[in-house]
Amino acid sequence: MITASPGARLTRPETSTASDWRQLWRDAVTDAGELLALLGLESLAERLPPADAGFALRVPRGFVARMRPGDSRDPLLLQVLPQLAELDDIPGFVTDAVGDMASRAAQGVLHKYHGRALLIASGSCAINCRYCFRRHFPYGEEMAAAGQWRQALEHLRQDSSISELILSGGDPLSLATSKLEELSRGLAELPHVTRLRIHTRLPVVLPERIDAAFLSWLDALPLQKVVVLHANHANEIDASVVAACSRLRDAGATVLNQSVLLRGINDDAGTLAELSERLFTAGVLPYYLHQLDRVQGTAHFEVEDARAQALMDTLRTRLPGYLVPRLVREVGGDLSKRPL
Ligand SMILES: *Cc1c(COP(=O)(O)O)cnc(C)c1O
Ligand code: SF4
Repeated sequence: MITASPGARLTRPETSTASDWRQLWRDAVTDAGELLALLGLESLAERLPPADAGFALRVPRGFVARMRPGDSRDPLLLQVLPQLAELDDIPGFVTDAVGDMASRAAQGVLHKYHGRALLIASGSCAINCRYCFRRHFPYGEEMAAAGQWRQALEHLRQDSSISELILSGGDPLSLATSKLEELSRGLAELPHVTRLRIHTRLPVVLPERIDAAFLSWLDALPLQKVVVLHANHANEIDASVVAACSRLRDAGATVLNQSVLLRGINDDAGTLAELSERLFTAGVLPYYLHQLDRVQGTAHFEVEDARAQALMDTLRTRLPGYLVPRLVREVGGDLSKRPL
């Protein structure tokens, strides 16, 4: 008869603890009714679209904890809660709003701009943002991490004008650190790639992802490193996010932030100023403020250009220049993001 002895237990593989990011990822709230109940907002349930409007609700519990209970206009809640307005068919709001499919260079590789190639490294996100510009992207077929990154690395090998590799998604930090190691081994053979940029929302929505294994990978990379976060409102940045940003900087990364201008969430100068100030407290500089990409199901988030420009004018009178993000729009076929 085999009985479990304390000694046997010690030889077992370590089980996940509550702070393991994969466990926290799996524990995310995926049911709108549960999310509303956690916030004491059960009465909003009757205004939910059927079946999450075809784009699943997903939000880590740590992010829910930063929402204000009882506030149906909470700026974090509005980023993730499905709305009936998503079902409206608005002319001009389409499934591939930024011409991504036209700039596809290889499996999971988008090459639009000089000197930098962007990899759709993974299709998964820890959070599903309702305004997401890639909510209709065919992730199933377009994953650079497939097959040890072979196609992506081959594209980089053949084009020595590429000096910067951008990992995007989905969220590239949804990949296991071992998968990132696979990529960096391939990059070691490509001396013209000198910079690695990571576009990720994970340090904001699941800061536990910035763990020791990831940090030692990042620290050891023989490249310049840039991490571009995605936060839209100061309330997203709590002490755990500040700590994650500080660990990223200690590992040698320059940390920037991009936001999306979102009606009812951050479309006033005071809110944007507070976001910039909070970012700087975390050692992060604002980079881009994006005008919404006109993606089907997101029209209710749009802010008109004239009002966006007026907001920027006010913001410039409130902040030092280095805390003012660049207001841009992505236009298919352009050779850079277009300043407004
Ligand atoms: C936005 C984007 C980039 C990055 O542009 P920067 O102006 O360098 O931040 C690169 N490639 C693609 C395909 C993009 O959409
Ligand atoms: S984290 Fe980024 S890619 Fe993922 S759903 Fe949000 S906006 Fe889209």
